[in-house]
Amino acid sequence: MKLPLIIGNWKMNHLTEEVKAFFSDLNSRPLPGTPWIAPQFIHLPLALEMKGEAKIGAQNCHFQNSGAFTGEIAPQALKDLGVDFTLIGHSERRSLFKESGDFLNQKVLSALAAGLTVVYCVGESLGERENGTTNSVVERQLDEGLKNLPATEKLIIAYEPVWAIGTGKTATPQQAQDTHTSIAKYLKNRDLDCPILYGGSVKPSNTAELMACPNIDGALVGGASLSSEDFYQILDKAHNLD
Ligand code: PEP
Repeated sequence: MKLPLIIGNWKMNHLTEEVKAFFSDLNSRPLPGTPWIAPQFIHLPLALEMKGEAKIGAQNCHFQNSGAFTGEIAPQALKDLGVDFTLIGHSERRSLFKESGDFLNQKVLSALAAGLTVVYCVGESLGERENGTTNSVVERQLDEGLKNLPATEKLIIAYEPVWAIGTGKTATPQQAQDTHTSIAKYLKNRDLDCPILYGGSVKPSNTAELMACPNIDGALVGGASLSSEDFYQILDKAHNLD
């Protein structure tokens, strides 16, 4: 995987014309690296058609590949469509949709088995940071989600402190760096070698200082990825650190 890796998570945003305008604009620019974009499921075919150099991913998937699971999306169906990756365990899935560690583990294993790259998201709440349990919370989420993991080159970890997602509050480079170092140690102990991305209110103005930290291999970007201009600026700054 070529680093740094910048992934846009559009969440439940954009209509057809906005998707078209985003890719038209991105495709008209000289890209410093490969953009990764996760639109809503319904826009995956359009995004795949217009993707240019980008890799296209889902924001979630089920762990079953077929059956009576009304409203769910199968990892194999995503792969069949040409999708490259999926997020698993985003904090909004954990908190709003009550997805448990065990459920997320099944999704991670199925998505990898289907041939998708998995971006597995972890991160602590504000209360957990304040009571000093950040590293143990993140380690537990890694233990749970990565149970029975096969050897793979298709795993990416995204560290996203919940208190920094969509709030405008960014972890300081030191806070991000400390947790990334702890995650890197955890992965090394398990003989896993995969990129660790930071997520949480990343924008053009804070990209350079975060991406300059050792062990920060890229960013998972929510709000700022909706604008092609901001997303391009982030991509550009991440690839052209002074
Ligand atoms: C995210 O949704 O993963 C995220 C980090 O959002 P934001 O950049 O808006 O904080």
